[in-house]
Amino acid sequence: MNAEIIAIGSELLTSSRVDTNSLWLTGQLNALGVEVTQKAIVGDDRERLAASIRAALGRAPILILTGGLGPTEDDVTRDAVAQALSRDLIYSEEIQHWIEARFARFGRPMAEINKRQAFLVAGAEKLENPNGTAPGQWVDLPPAMLIMLPGPPHEMKPMFEDRCLGRLRERLPTRFIRTRFFRVAGMGESDLDQLIAPIYTPYSNPVTTILAAAGDIQIHLRAQADSLAAAERLAQELGEKIEAALGERIYSRDGAPLEKVVGTCLTQRGETLAVAESCTAGLLGGRITEVAGSSAWFLGGLLVYQTDMKLRLLGLDPALVAKHGVVSEEVAMAMAGAVRERTGSTWALAVTGEAGPDPSPGGPPPGTIWIGLAGPAGTGARLFRFPGDRIRIRAFAVQSSLNLLRLKLASIL
Ligand code: AMP
Ligand code: MG
Repeated sequence: MNAEIIAIGSELLTSSRVDTNSLWLTGQLNALGVEVTQKAIVGDDRERLAASIRAALGRAPILILTGGLGPTEDDVTRDAVAQALSRDLIYSEEIQHWIEARFARFGRPMAEINKRQAFLVAGAEKLENPNGTAPGQWVDLPPAMLIMLPGPPHEMKPMFEDRCLGRLRERLPTRFIRTRFFRVAGMGESDLDQLIAPIYTPYSNPVTTILAAAGDIQIHLRAQADSLAAAERLAQELGEKIEAALGERIYSRDGAPLEKVVGTCLTQRGETLAVAESCTAGLLGGRITEVAGSSAWFLGGLLVYQTDMKLRLLGLDPALVAKHGVVSEEVAMAMAGAVRERTGSTWALAVTGEAGPDPSPGGPPPGTIWIGLAGPAGTGARLFRFPGDRIRIRAFAVQSSLNLLRLKLASIL
């Protein structure tokens, strides 16, 4: 079953307000097995809104409107729905009394303009609003449904949950949903898609969604069927094929971030980690310590941004730095080895590179990052060339450091 959402309000068409309601509603509908096929934002204009409503009802059997149910001139949702359906608006004494009672509770008389909120589209059922003056409305247009919800999120959400969810569930065919969720590190989005697009594109069910951030790709599979077993079979079938194609590049199947995966692995092994950071300057330590309880396996580290700090705090040999340059394999390895020795950790990661945007005099191009890794069996370093601006380059560096350690712990490196 498909649905469309129209968010109503001219303010949502400016750069100062974001339509968060339709995102939230999309999540709710998806959980019911309903796919949102189109969303729109329409300003406070009755004609335009009526045209959008008519068009949406021609495409989808569920239409949810949010906003424009207030008492002022610019609240045109009721009028637009009446116009789109060629129905009258009918005054409801009951709603008027309800609004009056609400005002009375705050010791005020109802303003005349609030009477506008007492109009129901003919044939509509009111949806009570315990959190505001605007009642919602539900119009059955078999087989379609049109639902009008208020704009303020603290009114819209409880109205949907308390007045609409149960009713929608009754009307919808029972659908079961099974999902798979993979997080992937160590490859770019286009490389990943080249690899798995031939696998997932033949499937319209499960639906595959790919979300990419710097060095971190999420793959969501969502299978729907009329039994749990059938949904599970579909998710399993495509999930297995994708897992086989990506192998160890998948670092998480339950949504856990890379730092958590690494931490769990270190905890199981009874091992510890320390870091020495130059161009990421604390971002790596910050990511690691986002994991609650990371003090069990993360010892700490050194933030050695200037070259002099690498010499003084890590004890690097000035001749080595002078010979190879501060962004080099030798310095990355020396940093990792030194911080491991000084902290007594099992493992140590070190990052040295050029985050840009401008190259340092005589230095490598921005995006050049060396990551050093020291462990019980020795020390090594890897060269990366990351794309993007300073923020992305540093995010890539952090993610790749953690991924390097993950692969090492899994004996893949
Ligand atoms: P309305 O019901 O159109 O009078 O909306 C009242 C207020 O609710 C607006 O001023 C916004 O602050 C908020 N609002 C309306 N629509 C949305 C939306 N789609 N997403 C988030 N907030 C909204
Ligand atoms: Mg409005």
